[in-house]
Amino acid sequence: MKIREMHITPIAAVDPPLLNAAGLHAPYALRIIIELITDGNVSGLSEIPGSEKIRKHLEESREEIIGKDPFNLTSIFRSLERKFAAIDTNQRGEQSWDQRILVHIFSAVEVACLDIIGKETGRGISDLLGGTVREQIPFSAYLFFKHKGAGGELGFDIDPSASGWAAARQAPALDVKGIIAQAKAMCEEFGFQSVKLKGGVFAPEVEVECLKALHNEFGNRIPLRFDPNGVWSVETAIRYGKEMEGILDYYEDPVRSQEAMSIVRKAVDIPVATNMCTTSFSDIPGSIRIGSEDIILSDHHFWGGLRASMHLERICSTFGRKLSMHSNSHLGISLAAMLHLGAVLSELPYAFDTHYPWQKEEVIKGGKFRFEDGFISVPKGPGLGVELDREALAELHNNYNRCGLTHRDDEIEMQKVEPGWKFELTRW
Ligand SMILES: [Mg+2]
Repeated sequence: MKIREMHITPIAAVDPPLLNAAGLHAPYALRIIIELITDGNVSGLSEIPGSEKIRKHLEESREEIIGKDPFNLTSIFRSLERKFAAIDTNQRGEQSWDQRILVHIFSAVEVACLDIIGKETGRGISDLLGGTVREQIPFSAYLFFKHKGAGGELGFDIDPSASGWAAARQAPALDVKGIIAQAKAMCEEFGFQSVKLKGGVFAPEVEVECLKALHNEFGNRIPLRFDPNGVWSVETAIRYGKEMEGILDYYEDPVRSQEAMSIVRKAVDIPVATNMCTTSFSDIPGSIRIGSEDIILSDHHFWGGLRASMHLERICSTFGRKLSMHSNSHLGISLAAMLHLGAVLSELPYAFDTHYPWQKEEVIKGGKFRFEDGFISVPKGPGLGVELDREALAELHNNYNRCGLTHRDDEIEMQKVEPGWKFELTRW
């Protein structure tokens, strides 16, 4: 069996004006849909974060992929490594999302090949990865401070006919009242049983007040997480961390660097999580030596695939860390891969992150996955268990061509609201 075709389609999905430490989400979130087709006409899908830089390198990876056997992933990975060895050892970037090229390409190729292998063998990806140990995967509500607006063509405007969560996702959330309303609407719609607040946007006292209000509202039955994306100083993180002991389930990247994280971890009695200081296998020795976190938030797009995330789980259990899941704005192909990973991990100590409720479009047939009491069922059927909706793909590709965005730049978007605004490594 050989891979005969590789289709790389950049798309743009409507995204509301969500705030974070790096600035503001653009009206569209960029993704890339990859489709590999074999000489037997079997198609394998994957989805990764989009940028022109990644798209260009994916195009260049074509010659290492076309003509290869999708069962022979290790050999494909080795040739991709040789090809891209020079480009990106240390280019993760300072923002919360990872900008390294090779991990994205590994993830794109691996998931699409596993989708093909699953279809060839009549088994789901979770079966290929060792077998399903759970059928439903828990997710957490992901709250954002946000401006009023629906995103996409509406931008900062809203659709007045929207109701339920569709209306709530357009509403502003710039204070305690807005965040509580968002949390209630999201939990009511999707049944989430844990809640995360993205921070690093307003002064620490404002964000901590929101967390205390959420704790008052939901009590201990809803675990709370908080993620200021590393823009707090060690002093700020310790001072406010102490205020949140007994309130937070975990404290995610309050500060930047493994060293700073280990200081906060020792000083504050809350488990510390990261998707910013320990983000690759080469960070593991430092993490173990320094003791930088309790929980690593993996992401198959950033760790180089589903199998790599399983290797990471073994390392985590060896060294006394817990593993959970990071997320960026994504659609259903990425979600299906996350679900298959969730199905095979030995334990899920924390509900996964997902931005999925913030996206309203889909690229798979049958529309969006449905949450039930905050859980999504692992898709049945061979491979990923999802099918590409080609009309939707064409529409989302049109969005991409129209919107003019080529990479994520939350600072530029923020400057449209606050002229002169600058991203700072440490803001408070
Ligand atoms: Mg994070």
